[in-house]
Amino acid sequence: HAKSQGRNRYCIFGPIMDETIKLRSMIEDDLRRALLSKDQLMVYFQPLISGVDERVVGLEALVRWEHPTRGLIPPSQFIPIAEDEGLILELGEWVFREACAASRRWSDLSIAINLSPVQIRSRGFAERCIEIARECQVNPTKLELEITEGILLKDDNVVCDTLNALREFGFRIALDDFGTGYSSLSYLKQFAVDKIKIDRSFVQSLAGTDYQEALAIIEALVSLGRAMGLAVSVEGVETKEQERLLFAAGCREMQGYLFSPALSQEQIAVMLSSRGR
Ligand code: C2E
Ligand code: MG
Ligand code: MG
Ligand code: MG
Repeated sequence: HAKSQGRNRYCIFGPIMDETIKLRSMIEDDLRRALLSKDQLMVYFQPLISGVDERVVGLEALVRWEHPTRGLIPPSQFIPIAEDEGLILELGEWVFREACAASRRWSDLSIAINLSPVQIRSRGFAERCIEIARECQVNPTKLELEITEGILLKDDNVVCDTLNALREFGFRIALDDFGTGYSSLSYLKQFAVDKIKIDRSFVQSLAGTDYQEALAIIEALVSLGRAMGLAVSVEGVETKEQERLLFAAGCREMQGYLFSPALSQEQIAVMLSSRGR
């Protein structure tokens, strides 16, 4: 306990910080344990919808952790811990395998998988993905690996070689949360990517009073993607009005609560059959 380590220490951290540290180390221990059996871990899938006919064209794998006492812990809370504690490679590989299983089940849909920068920078990552895809007998062109812009920012040979090797094998590469964080777009030309996913923050701004500004940005991102020969999708679509504006701006692939949240495989199966597929 910080208090027992002297007054100064207590002053620096304070009781709130102390609780935060305790909570974090508890999550850390529990996550380590959860990874042993994977009983509490699940991969949910959120549909990607064609803006033209509202058909399901893909599914994004999103990890879920159902903690026995704390309930559902969101990935935003435990992925960073998994990254810091060296658990992300194991977690990521498990998600990858679950996504491959989904890809075999729904071979006409593309399956998106989120990759941590820690995975991409790890030694032999591309080889491992290729090995698993072969083992699971999936078509790599139906797997879409989502990376974030941050990983491309540094001129990093390891990252460049890894992405090239993944793409050469046939995996598709998508830039997630596109448009956030970085103003330099020069990496779009340098790196082999197939798709951009316009970040949900732009879509959220479509609800506000200066929605015209947000719309202009989205239109610019769409034409940038088009000009570079990339597929363009947009995440976080929550309302019919947003859908309408996005469609008018040229977005043809959409994802968001308007269509569906992330669902279990069983729920996806029900949804697909009720939609007549
Ligand atoms: P992301 O890849 O950008 O995924 C989209 C997030 O937005 C998901 O949150 C999804 O549930 C949520 N979302 C979807 N539609 C809507 C909407 O209409 N409105 C709003 N407000 N949110 C929407 P989730 O599942 O909590 O995941 C958060 C982030 O955690 C993901 O962002 C991704 O970066 C990361 N993540 C999730 N699963 C994995 C994984 O297996 N591995 C890694 N490395 N990261 C993951
Ligand atoms: Mg994603
Ligand atoms: Mg995203
Ligand atoms: Mg996002």
